[in-house]
Amino acid sequence: MTLTADAPVLTDDEQPKTFDSYNPTTGEVYATFPIDDADAVQAAVDRARNAADWWAGLGFKGRGKYLDQWRAVLARRLNQLADVVYAETGKPHGDAALEVGMAIEHLAWATKHAKKVLGKHHVSSGLVMVNQRATVEYLPRGVVGVIGPWNYPVFTPMGSIAYALAAGNTVVFKPSEFSPAIGTWLVDAFHEVLPDHDVLQIVRGFGETGNALCTSGVDKLAFTGSTRTGKKVMAACAETLTPVVIEAGGKDSIIVDADADVDKAAEAAAWGAFWNAGQTCIGIERAYVHEKVYDRFVDKLVEEANAVKPGVNYGPMTMPAQVDVIRKHIDDAIARGGKALTGGQVTDGFIPATVLVDVPEDALAVTDETFGPTITVRKVASADEAIELTNASEYGLGSAVFSKKNGTKIADKVRSGMTAVNAVLVYAAIPSLPFGGVGQSGIGRIHGEDGLREFAQPKSVVKQLMPAALNVTSFDRGANEDKLWATLILTLHGRANQFLKKQ
Ligand code: NDP
Repeated sequence: MTLTADAPVLTDDEQPKTFDSYNPTTGEVYATFPIDDADAVQAAVDRARNAADWWAGLGFKGRGKYLDQWRAVLARRLNQLADVVYAETGKPHGDAALEVGMAIEHLAWATKHAKKVLGKHHVSSGLVMVNQRATVEYLPRGVVGVIGPWNYPVFTPMGSIAYALAAGNTVVFKPSEFSPAIGTWLVDAFHEVLPDHDVLQIVRGFGETGNALCTSGVDKLAFTGSTRTGKKVMAACAETLTPVVIEAGGKDSIIVDADADVDKAAEAAAWGAFWNAGQTCIGIERAYVHEKVYDRFVDKLVEEANAVKPGVNYGPMTMPAQVDVIRKHIDDAIARGGKALTGGQVTDGFIPATVLVDVPEDALAVTDETFGPTITVRKVASADEAIELTNASEYGLGSAVFSKKNGTKIADKVRSGMTAVNAVLVYAAIPSLPFGGVGQSGIGRIHGEDGLREFAQPKSVVKQLMPAALNVTSFDRGANEDKLWATLILTLHGRANQFLKKQ
């Protein structure tokens, strides 16, 4: 909720105590929840801290039993949860079910792999410390705060919640004000499996509730949302030196090279741009297409866009304020010489799939996250030009490349956290792949081994097995040891220098 400068100042007693969530398709109130103030958030974090030792002490196997049961509940009631997602976000039931299924896949992967990735294991102690046995393990951090967005209100927060729980942390989750019933459903399902311990709790409300979570003393804060709010979260967390993972916005592109399968590329671009009405952090918002295939690509993309029906293939904008942002981006693109080959009219929350061409690179539709069913398409002379334009964005979340021969080579040069070759968005559904961005798209990673380690802290232990043959870590060390040390280092590393000198 944005507080405007001229909003009346309310006393504590006048502050609203509850808030409503809405069904964006009908505009009707869907559910009403209490607003959790700073005291309520602190109480939840305190309860989570009390439960943290118990949960960590269960170990990977003990925790796995509860997480597996929770997973089974989610799988059995997938349709019920998808109904709630549909009601609160407006996305079609099938899309909601797709999202829930992907979240379940991640929960399964995190549970199964936590021990292997985080459990105690030996590492080499190296030749000079050969008398030591070195081990490392990744311990739970304690209490993790998770702040989630509304666009994928199950999949996105679960990318943090599932991995944080599997790593042995307790979690306090603040869903978006637009999707509190979905967050509540998820947490209630967990409580059915584990009613007696505050391992996963929910706090609800607006930005103030999220801010209270940032300053509550949690041991890590996982935020997914806009870059603008991500910066506020980091600033709030800095006060208590709370580490953060920030999954923020994107301006992903698809690069279509001269040898691409053009029909498949256009089909994929349409899905990447229009799925969920473009309310996708890794949504495709820009296309850079080789001049040899540009016309065919644009024709096919327009055909695809014309076949996509708002209200059938995707729902309305979940957040009403986003309608104005999308209108502004389209208007700005057209005012600067761009053309909408299809779509372009923004009259209500159901926005038509829009293909924009001839849009200058400094227009809002190219530089800023639109978060609507729009895509700009630009003709390029080469894949290198497409890479340069892609990398000019201050964002760097996902990306896609279509080329029969050079897909991987092009992907390697794109500045982004993830790139799909001859496909779009698919990396999000591969749990073993780390997910996150560079630049304004955020800090840190969820999913995969990196996602598990994000919610753990490394602990190194070294055990001396026998006295060192060459004891250099003692005040008894003499000139002889110093000489031997220098000889050892020279023997081990000196050849590299000699090799360089010869060149
Ligand atoms: P917002 O940044 O508006 O909100 C995200 C969350 O932060 C919400 O729960 C919000 O609460 C909360 N919040 C708002 N103000 C504060 C504050 N001062 N302190 C702490 N928390 C606060 O994002 P949206 O919900 O609009 O989500 C869309 C954005 O999320 C897009 O930019 C999208 O790209 C990004 N996203 C990124 C993903 C990724 O993995 N990189 C995945 C999915 C989305 P409330 O809603 O109550 O205001």
